[in-house]
Amino acid sequence: MFVVQALARFFAALTPLVVMFGCAPRGRDDFAARFGYLILLRDQVAAQVCQGRSLEATLAQLLTPHTEDYGRPYLVGVPGREKFARDDREFARDVAVAYRVLTAEPAAPPNDGKPRALALIGDHYHPPGLIRPPIEVAMDDAGIPTEFLCDVTKLTAPILGRYRLLIILRDGVNWPDPDEKSFSKAKWWMTKEQEQAIIAFVRAGGGLLALHNANALKPWAEKQDPAPLLRVLGSQYDSHGAPREGYRVRVLRSDHPITRGVADFTATGEHHRPRPLATDMVRLLESTAEGETCLAGYARTEGKGRIAYLAFGHTREVLDLPDVQRLLANAARWCLGKD
Ligand SMILES: [Zn+2]
Repeated sequence: MFVVQALARFFAALTPLVVMFGCAPRGRDDFAARFGYLILLRDQVAAQVCQGRSLEATLAQLLTPHTEDYGRPYLVGVPGREKFARDDREFARDVAVAYRVLTAEPAAPPNDGKPRALALIGDHYHPPGLIRPPIEVAMDDAGIPTEFLCDVTKLTAPILGRYRLLIILRDGVNWPDPDEKSFSKAKWWMTKEQEQAIIAFVRAGGGLLALHNANALKPWAEKQDPAPLLRVLGSQYDSHGAPREGYRVRVLRSDHPITRGVADFTATGEHHRPRPLATDMVRLLESTAEGETCLAGYARTEGKGRIAYLAFGHTREVLDLPDVQRLLANAARWCLGKD
């Protein structure tokens, strides 16, 4: 059932691309192959858009297969490209269309009174192509229609106002220059207006589901004077362990709606060590690696809004874990006041 729902959602998200590319299916196999190509193209372009890169930089990255960005194999070119784009010119045209779709203002959702989520995902270390599918499935399970956004410039008060829940899995820095490798040269993207828009959204009753490195949305070096958004979120990033470290997750409060149906579990991935800021949070989960125990999940309220933080999200594998899927769906519903 999940697979069917996820595919249906993929089709919906790809409709603008399919229409713009004029991909009338001649046969089922042909369409399936072209569909796979479009998904890969969308995700590869999204991986550039979420780093704040221009169309020119995106083209330069995708036209030349390479192993930039930590040698992750899924960033090497776009498989199937030679089948659907006869030459670099045609491929550049495809990339430009995908770039235009991904940097367009999100379409206004139908005015049907249904609570909807906006998910801001993807950064230098976390490609949208890996994060999006597990979040799609979890939100489907929660019954919450979700729009995905990779272009941070489109996170504005009017757009946020169309949604009841904001999901964030990304940090606060962009890497507009693909050749720049130094973190000190990365660009903090969030404007004061965007920060205030998120805070106002939550205080007015919006939900905020912050995942993994979302507590690094603002500089965390100012430990004595955290940014207003981090205070509202309730924690700030401190550090993390190795990319494939094993850790044990313990449920601290099994009576909370967010942990309903979740037992202690093990996971492999970047073990995050958030620094709690809020004193009024309900601690839900803690995680232990190498004898070190950290906060891994909590909930709190701010004004009329609800905030949940879950530390998971470095890889698709960890987001796909049944317990993490349940936590995501439960947390999204709780943030919306459904539980
Ligand atoms: Zn990570």
